[in-house]
Amino acid sequence: MSHINTKCIQEGYEPKSGEARVLPIYQSTTFKYEDAKTLGDLFDFNASGHFYTRLSNPTVEAVEKKIAALEGGVGAMLCSSGQGATTAAILTICSAGDHIVSSNSIYGGSFNLLNITLRKLGIDTTFISPDATDEEIRAAIRPETKLLFGESVANPALTVLDIERWAKIAHENEIPLFVDNTFPSPVNCRPFEWGADIIIHSTSKYLDGHAMALGGCVVDSGKFDWTASKKFEKFCAPDESYHGLVYPEKFGAAAFIAKARAQMMRDMGMMMSPMNAFLLNVGIETLHLRMREHCANAQKVAEYLAKNDKIAWVNFPGLEDNKYNALAKKYMPQGTCGVISFGIKGGREAAGKFMESVKLAAPVIHVADARTCILHPASTTHRQLSDEQLIECGVTPDLIRMSVGIEYVDDIIEDIEQALNKCF
Ligand SMILES: *Cc1c(COP(=O)(O)O)cnc(C)c1O
Repeated sequence: MSHINTKCIQEGYEPKSGEARVLPIYQSTTFKYEDAKTLGDLFDFNASGHFYTRLSNPTVEAVEKKIAALEGGVGAMLCSSGQGATTAAILTICSAGDHIVSSNSIYGGSFNLLNITLRKLGIDTTFISPDATDEEIRAAIRPETKLLFGESVANPALTVLDIERWAKIAHENEIPLFVDNTFPSPVNCRPFEWGADIIIHSTSKYLDGHAMALGGCVVDSGKFDWTASKKFEKFCAPDESYHGLVYPEKFGAAAFIAKARAQMMRDMGMMMSPMNAFLLNVGIETLHLRMREHCANAQKVAEYLAKNDKIAWVNFPGLEDNKYNALAKKYMPQGTCGVISFGIKGGREAAGKFMESVKLAAPVIHVADARTCILHPASTTHRQLSDEQLIECGVTPDLIRMSVGIEYVDDIIEDIEQALNKCF
């Protein structure tokens, strides 16, 4: 098996003699067959091939194969955004009356999905700290709990999930662990190796890496035994909307991702476009190089900030005195990601001045692209949350999130320094 760096470049697309060297963009909604019977077989999963781009497309499929290989899964499904991927993944096994136990240290959009939209659909969530003890996690699990959910490195709180411990408790209860692995990317962290069952990505972040195309991905480890668990009778029952198809019987280890596509994608249609899949693939070709630079630059910026007397606090799992340093070293020995958060002495007001004063770092609603960017979550991404909820998510009102890019690191530090000088 080749190294992950090689997979970033080579996996998913293997041109045959005379075919395009670069993954082609199959910009077509549909695919032609000689006879109606073949189409029927395709519908029944008795033949393999593409027939409608909402369900599959050669460009999209190549990138799905690449991401599945990077994570070590049996299959992947690309979606139009990270939010689409999280929604599709959860609804593949949850319906009204079901329950989720989630880390409370998660992306604001995922928090709203669980806390507002899924509740409206009758799916309840209990939020607990990512640092909850084994007993606290067990206590939150109910008979109708269908999954545990957390982020390997949380956006924006940068807490690190103890994946192995959460997976063990999930499996004791015959339920899967879903991990959003957006921030470290598979180059730095591979949750399946620690027992996670389903991985979710916002590919809009490091996987794309250039802020070009929104996207999301669901990856199936193929390891969760849906039939052996007593909690997934509905999942294992014949799908009436698919003339009695039984997913674990038909697809074996890949039952989850097959159902996600055959039912969720069919019905909800949060498909990634071929053009976006093409752009995403170009991004992933340099993922391993970019992650190395993001991590090295972020480490230097975090160390600079930690020594600066204008800074109240710095949060970066790569710092030795960070609460999550040990977990980060265990799960991500090569580094976590390029995102840092910190507070400036002088609180909310100084943070505002800093935001106005940076030049190289751009204030944008984004993280994890090649360009350094900064954000004040309390006034933007997390503004729907109350102060109480903010603190529950690990976001203080003075928090500035900086996504350290891959520019020359001294230029990034110089920019921070000149902006800090304007705050005081
Ligand atoms: C951005 C993000 C999402 C949502 O992804 P979109 O592509 O913006 O829909 C989900 N999880 C994490 C950790 C994120 O950073």
